[in-house]
Amino acid sequence: MNEALSIDAPPPRPRGRRLVLWGALVALLVVAQSLLVFLTANYERVRAQDLVESAATAAAAEVRQALSRHQQSLQALQWNDPGAARWRSEAATLLHSRRDLMRIERRDPRMHIADAVDSPYQGPVFTRIAREDIELEAQLACAGALRLAAPAFSRSYFVPLSDGLGLEVMDLCVPLQRAGQPDGVVIATLALGRLLEESVGAEMSRGHEFSFIEGDGTRLARAGARRGAGVFVAERVIDLPGQGLQLRVDSAVGSPSLIPNLAVALVFGLSLALAVVVGLLVRDVRRRAGAEARLAEALSFRKAMEDSLVTGLRARDLSGRITHVNPAFCEMVGFGEAELMGPSTPPYWPPELAADYARRQSVRLGGPPAVPGRSTQEARAGFETIFMRRNGERFPVLIFEAPLVDGQGRHTGWMSSVLDVSAQRRVEELSRQQQERLQATARLATVGEMASLLSHELNQPLAAIASYAAGSLNLLEAGRPADPEAPAMLRQAAQRIAEQAERAGRVIKSVHDFVRRREQAREAVRADVLFDAVMPLVRLQARKSGTRIELDLPDPPPRVVCDRTMVEQVLLNLTRNGIQAMETNTELADRVLTLRARQTHERWVTFSVVDRGPGIADDVATRLFTPFFTTRSEGMGLGLSLCRTVIEQHGGALDFVNLASVGTGLGTEFRFTLPSEARERAAAAALAAEPPDAAAELPS
Ligand code: ADP
Repeated sequence: MNEALSIDAPPPRPRGRRLVLWGALVALLVVAQSLLVFLTANYERVRAQDLVESAATAAAAEVRQALSRHQQSLQALQWNDPGAARWRSEAATLLHSRRDLMRIERRDPRMHIADAVDSPYQGPVFTRIAREDIELEAQLACAGALRLAAPAFSRSYFVPLSDGLGLEVMDLCVPLQRAGQPDGVVIATLALGRLLEESVGAEMSRGHEFSFIEGDGTRLARAGARRGAGVFVAERVIDLPGQGLQLRVDSAVGSPSLIPNLAVALVFGLSLALAVVVGLLVRDVRRRAGAEARLAEALSFRKAMEDSLVTGLRARDLSGRITHVNPAFCEMVGFGEAELMGPSTPPYWPPELAADYARRQSVRLGGPPAVPGRSTQEARAGFETIFMRRNGERFPVLIFEAPLVDGQGRHTGWMSSVLDVSAQRRVEELSRQQQERLQATARLATVGEMASLLSHELNQPLAAIASYAAGSLNLLEAGRPADPEAPAMLRQAAQRIAEQAERAGRVIKSVHDFVRRREQAREAVRADVLFDAVMPLVRLQARKSGTRIELDLPDPPPRVVCDRTMVEQVLLNLTRNGIQAMETNTELADRVLTLRARQTHERWVTFSVVDRGPGIADDVATRLFTPFFTTRSEGMGLGLSLCRTVIEQHGGALDFVNLASVGTGLGTEFRFTLPSEARERAAAAALAAEPPDAAAELPS
């Protein structure tokens, strides 16, 4: 079977499996998108953390640098052993340049304050609480510093101020030496908050909050333009001699929120677009699935339809190779689908006709129909040819063929429906034989009927012959051969005998001719010749009832094409019916039978047989042409039904008119039409004008 036609719809995927696939697709998309969003957000976080870490590192370095600068400045104060006044002025200068230094003191080896200068920015720190009461941390740091002979920092401590606030400070203790011997210390008090502010600078403090904290997280001092959000935090321990400081940097940036974030918005937008595309794809797939289902349904419908056909279907490509056959065709020719589709010469071509078929096929398949619509007409008309079954039996088929045109309008081959007409032909043959037998029977019946008339008619010449013969014998026996008139009288008698014998012979011959002549051939014949042929028999019958026969023919008489014998029998039947109709109730003077022929149409000649009988009663009229219907005891009732069959076989029509009903006196007119010679000529000419590759050249 043709591939294109035999594609069965793929087995429908189970609904559950389809749902699982869709679920998996959606889940994958959701996971991928969530991962993307998560990674984007995470990247933001890592970046913010990196920023805060680097800020912490930078700030710690700055603080370390500031503190080491303080150490150097304090040590520098003692250079060249300045006097009290100079020390004070240099200490004041130092306090002026370093805002984070609150106070610088000089102490003697016994740790008594020798000198002290306060920051010009803040004013004296130890006002609310005296320095002596709050110097424990400083003394501890100095003890360490003296022990190590190196600067040391104290722990930080809180100094309340007079304005109600306070400061977190720490002391830097720098041991002094004179001539290699310890000579007191210099103590600088640093405000941790200021230290931070001075170290980190405006740029860094804009986005972060810097603080010094204790081990438990208590904040000691802070700096920075904004408060930290507490999300991105970095801590650094700043190791100082004798002490450690914990620096904490807290970014003002909070957790990256999803909505106003550009990158996240972009990812969301893309996800949304992806979801829309997937949605559209799903819709498209559903539509396709719907279309596929409908297509599969249509295909199975067509296949069922095709399988149920009793007409054979056969498709061929442009090279004549069979591309598709239906089961009915396989059954018809008795070959399987595979056997039919393989070879280039179909196995159902009878070998003796194969060459002929191949030639006709090559003409037909040479190209698409040149005249649009022509093929459709041909397909409608069909053509008959002979195929062969697998068992070698030849059988007639009727083929209707139409071009196959694909979706792009290209001519791709031919599609034929093939009808096995062998049964039909058998029936036709049977019917023809029966018809012939019936006609023969009817003829014989007519002849039988005529036998009595024949005997009556033959009586006359025979009686005449007998009397002439008797007269001649008398003449001879009376011994009058010497009579000079005798030879003349005998010759006349013999002549009469010959004439009468000839007449009797003619009568017999006309009957013989009628019964015997049975050639089927149609021939062109003049109307008067037809009448003349039946006239002896007609007259024979007419004479018995005293009926006159009138012939009404134009000059020249029209010519028709017909089977003479059959039409003569029709004429004989009609004239006999007419004569019989007038036999009983018609005056002798009115017994006239008119036989007429007219060219009533360019293509038709009408024959009429008109009697002046009583006409045909309505109840008789309805059954007139029914076989075996008769009103006569000796009738067979076949005459008119056979007449109509014969005329219709010629393409004509037979009917009758009650003359009383049309107001032209009593009687009946039976008339029939026959094709004129002109019509047959025109038909033959039309056939001759057909192009050579038409009906006669159709492929098989
Ligand atoms: P049959 O002659 O054997 O009876 P037909 O078929 O020739 O069979 O005629 C059938 C019947 O039609 C006749 O019996 C007759 O009654 C009627 N019929 C035929 N021709 C005429 C006619 N010209 N006038 C009146 N009746 C007719």
